[in-house]
Amino acid sequence: MDQITAVCKRLAAAKSLTVLSGAGISAESGIPTFRGEEGLWNKHRAEDLATPEAFRRDPELVWAWYQWRRTLIAQKQPNAAHDALVSLERRLAAFTLITQNVDGLHERAGSRSMIELHGNIWRMRCTGCGLKTESEAALPALPSCASCHGLLRPDIVWFGEAVDPDHLIRSLNACRDADVMLVIGTSGVVQPAASFASVAKEAGAFIVEINPVPSLSNLADRVFAEKAAVLLPKIV
Ligand code: NAD
Ligand code: ZN
Repeated sequence: MDQITAVCKRLAAAKSLTVLSGAGISAESGIPTFRGEEGLWNKHRAEDLATPEAFRRDPELVWAWYQWRRTLIAQKQPNAAHDALVSLERRLAAFTLITQNVDGLHERAGSRSMIELHGNIWRMRCTGCGLKTESEAALPALPSCASCHGLLRPDIVWFGEAVDPDHLIRSLNACRDADVMLVIGTSGVVQPAASFASVAKEAGAFIVEINPVPSLSNLADRVFAEKAAVLLPKIV
């Protein structure tokens, strides 16, 4: 039996599917990953930009970088891999998409049962009162809160920050409940997401990795060293 057929049989028998996606799923939309050859961090140091310390030191620089990324993302569209996950969500009784991406492309594609573990680049959070707002495309250099005038920051989990405990609990539950788990386009170095596949595996899930440079090594039951936008439509 070929590899794709084997995965399809698993999916056909599965009641619950959990997906973990990373920057690689948006690569074919033209959004740079962090750690690939074209990665953002080859040009910018993460520790200079995506940390609470960086924001305290130079909020204007951090906002300029996020504005640059937002402008880039606004010009891009969800790809066939994002669309394939929407089809799978419609077909499975229980489906959870855990994404490390902040680009909002899963939502634009139509995914609904979704946990945005690292936040969303289109949302802002007040450093004063905590109020969250959807942000307009155009922003002043230093946006401020309409309610308390505090400084707004991107609603993103930065290096050195903890993910929302509620998101973490829901993610772990989805991993434990999964019959099948797809791990797509993540280098698996950022915790806690990096351990989700082993949580699912220990609870009995069948693990499938899709990544031209696979990262799960021994953990995955099937590995497709292919681009997500090529492989996922074939499965669908
Ligand atoms: P990463 O950059 O560390 O790894 C990307 C992975 O995708 C690599 O393993 C690479 O081999 C793989 N990949 C590249 N092209 C692919 C393709 N066409 N199909 C499938 N896989 C492909 O990304 P990560 O593991 O998500 O790192 C986590 C951090 O990166 C998170 O904090 C996340 O918020 C952030 N990030 C998000 C975006 C986004 O929202 N689009 C972009 C860059 C980084
Ligand atoms: Zn406020």
